[in-house]
Amino acid sequence: MQVIAKTLLFLLALGLIFTSLEGQSFLLQPSLVFDGQDMHEGWAVLVEGRHIVAAGPAASINVPEGAETISLPGQTLMPGMIEAHSHLLLYPYNRADWNDQVLKESNELRVIRGAVHAEKNLMAGFTTVRELGTEGAGYADVAIKQAIEQGIIPGPRLIVSGRAIVATGSYGPKGFKPDFEVPLGAEPADGDAIIRVVRDQIGKGADFIKVYADYRWGPEGEAMPTFLQEELELMVKVARSSGRGVAAHASTAEGMRRAALAGVETIEHGDGGTAEVFKLMKEKGVALCPTLAAGDAIMRYRGWDGSPETEPERIKQKKQSFKLAMESGVKIIAGGDVGVFEHGENARELELMVAYGMKPLDVLRSVTNVNAEVFHLPERGSIRKGYLADLIAVEGNPLEDISALRKVQLVMKGGEFYKKP
Ligand SMILES: [Zn+2]
Repeated sequence: MQVIAKTLLFLLALGLIFTSLEGQSFLLQPSLVFDGQDMHEGWAVLVEGRHIVAAGPAASINVPEGAETISLPGQTLMPGMIEAHSHLLLYPYNRADWNDQVLKESNELRVIRGAVHAEKNLMAGFTTVRELGTEGAGYADVAIKQAIEQGIIPGPRLIVSGRAIVATGSYGPKGFKPDFEVPLGAEPADGDAIIRVVRDQIGKGADFIKVYADYRWGPEGEAMPTFLQEELELMVKVARSSGRGVAAHASTAEGMRRAALAGVETIEHGDGGTAEVFKLMKEKGVALCPTLAAGDAIMRYRGWDGSPETEPERIKQKKQSFKLAMESGVKIIAGGDVGVFEHGENARELELMVAYGMKPLDVLRSVTNVNAEVFHLPERGSIRKGYLADLIAVEGNPLEDISALRKVQLVMKGGEFYKKP
C-alpha cells in the first residue's frame, strides 16, 4: 500500500516537473508583427516554454488547450531588441565626468549601478546587450552577466568584453605626474604581450575582444592610430583561434582601415570613415556600429541645444560619413554607446538613425536581425519557429513613427514575462 502511495506521489511530482519544464503557453495577438525582416498584419505568435513554436497568420496557428491568449490591440510585436554598443558600468558624462567615474568611484559602487542599468536596458525592450568594456571596472561585466544568468537580478542576455585592450600610453585617465600609476580605463598591451593579454581576458570571461585601434593621443590631442597593422592582426588571430571575434573602436580613416584589414568583426563609431574605407569594410565583411547617439549626447553636454541652426561641425561630419556608409552597402548594426547617455534611453540611437536618413524598416532590421547575425546569435533577432521567445510589444507602428520603440508595453525573455500588459 505504502509502495503504491509512494509511486503515486512520485508520478505526481514527475507531472509537476514536466509542466514546469514545458512552461506555460501564450498566444500573442498584436495588431502588427515585425518578424525581424518585414511587417505583417493579422499575425499571431505562439510561445511554449522558452521558445516560439509558431508565428504566422492567426488562422494558421494550432492553439493548444490551456494557452493564455494575450491581445495587444494597437501594438507591434517584435523580436527583443539587441543593443550593439553599451557600457553598463558608465552613466552620463553630464552627471559625472568619465575621469571621475574611472578614478574616484569604487568598483563596488559601479557594479551596483551596473546592475540597475542592466534592468533598465531590459525594460526598454533590449533583451540582448553587447558590452564594449567596463572602463576601469575590471571584469564587473562578467559578474553582472553571471548574476543575470543565475536569476539574481533581472537583465538582458549579455555578450561581454571585460577590460578591453589599449596601446600603452594612449588611453586615459591622463595628465598626472609621470611616476604616478593611474588606474586606466582599459588594459594596455603591445607587441607579443598581446598574445598573453588576449588569452588572459578570454580566460576571465570575455566573449569577444574590444580593442582601441585609434585614440585621441596625436600631437595636438587629435585621434591617431594606436596599434600597428601586425599587432592588430596578431590580436585577431589569437582571439579567432579561440572562436571569438574582435570589435575595434576607430574614428579615423586609417584606424578603421587597419582594423578592417586585420579582420575585426565590427568597427565602432567610424566618424572619419571615407567611401574607400567603407568599401573595404564591405569587402572584408566588417560591420559598422555608428553610435550616433553618443556624439549627439556629447555635443549637447558641451552646450548644443540641438537646433539645426547651431549644429556643430562634428554632427555635420557625422551625418556625412553615415550617409557614405549607407551608400557603400556596408552592414550597419544598431548601437548607441549607451552609458554615455542614460541607460534605458537606448532607442535614442534608432531615432537618430532615422533622422540621419536610414529607412525605418532598415533600422528595425538592424536592431534585431542584423545585430543577431553579426554577433553570431542563431536563435535571436527574428520571430520564427524554434527561436528563443525574446519578444517585446510597443505601442503603435514604428515604421510610421520610430519613437514607438520607446513605448514598450511587453517584455518577454526566454518565455518569461518581465513586463506584461
Ligand atoms: Zn563605447
